[in-house]
Amino acid sequence: MKYPKLRELKEAVISLVTPAYTSKFPKEPHVPFERFRGKPVVDNENCVGCETCANVCPPHAITFSDDKEKGIRIISRDYGKCIFCAMCQDHCITGKGVKLSDKIFEIAVFDRQNNIEYQEKELLICESCGAVITTKEHLHFMHRRLGPKAFSSILNLNLLNQKLKLAEGQDIDVEIRDDLKRKDMFNIVCPNCLRQILVKYLFKGV
Ligand code: SF4
Ligand code: SF4
Repeated sequence: MKYPKLRELKEAVISLVTPAYTSKFPKEPHVPFERFRGKPVVDNENCVGCETCANVCPPHAITFSDDKEKGIRIISRDYGKCIFCAMCQDHCITGKGVKLSDKIFEIAVFDRQNNIEYQEKELLICESCGAVITTKEHLHFMHRRLGPKAFSSILNLNLLNQKLKLAEGQDIDVEIRDDLKRKDMFNIVCPNCLRQILVKYLFKGV
């Protein structure tokens, strides 16, 4: 029979009188240590669907897809891929769209699909070429940040009007029929189409 070494006996005696390193979770609630970084929690009210967090997420846990037919952007966040780096939190343009929880750590699931969360945001689509400009909430956010400077561009006059109710919708609505016209700059058009209008009708003085 092999006898335990003195060092092992010493460790066994010490462990009898010192508290355990491990917690009895889930029998007892686990209290995360200070500055613990847990699950990223989205605040949908303060998330404008801008895509910035997806662009900085190292494992591509955040993805975006635009459904032009339905006019919605779908944002999916896969916490099975998340490495809790907090890049999304640090780069969020509103500063409040997503924050890593210091309490939520129970994200183990049997089906990985259950670890994916989805959000939907209404898209802003160019009325001329059909390109996706951004989300409506994103543009409203930029208007709030710009303050009075937002009025210096007529690109989004319709959108601003919806918010400020300066005129009835029909007063400023002009239908885009075929080729872009000068009046179309009052519609919601993407930067490309606006540039075409400006080059064709304003810079050349047509
Ligand atoms: S914490 Fe890091 S890995 Fe997780 S969603 Fe945010 S950016 Fe991606
Ligand atoms: S960066 Fe912030 S506002 Fe933009 S999509 Fe991500 S969480 Fe939402």
